[in-house]
Amino acid sequence: MKDLMTSEHPDWRKFIDRLEEELSGPGDSLNCPHDESFPVARKVLEAMGNFDIEESFSYFQENGGYCDCEIVFNVDLPDEPLSNDLFLADDADDVDDVHADDFSGGSMDDPGPGDEIGDWARPDWGD
Ligand SMILES: [Zn+2]
Repeated sequence: MKDLMTSEHPDWRKFIDRLEEELSGPGDSLNCPHDESFPVARKVLEAMGNFDIEESFSYFQENGGYCDCEIVFNVDLPDEPLSNDLFLADDADDVDDVHADDFSGGSMDDPGPGDEIGDWARPDWGD
C-alpha cells in the first residue's frame, strides 16, 4: 500500500525541507530545472519511502505546482494557521480597548498601578 504525499501528510514538512535542500542553489535561490516531470521531487519521494509518486504529482498540479520549485511556492501554503493568528490578534486588541475605557472613567490624574485602582474602585459600588 502506497502513501499519497499531500500537505495533510505527517511527513509533508520533511518532504518540503528536503525538496528545498535538493533545489537550493547559490545564495537563497532555488536551482529548479522547471521540469514538469518533477525530477527532484521524484528523487526525494523515492528516498523517503513508499509513495504513489504519479498520484502525488497529480495532487501537486491540482494545487498549482507544475515543477519542483512550484511545489514549494504554490502547494506548500500555510493558509489556515496564519488566519487563526490574525483572528486571535484581533481579539486581543478588543480586550485592550475595553481596559482603556475603564481607566478614563476612573481617575484621569493618577491612574497608579493596576492593583490599587481595583482596591479603591470596588467597595463603593459594592453589594
Ligand atoms: Zn521550477
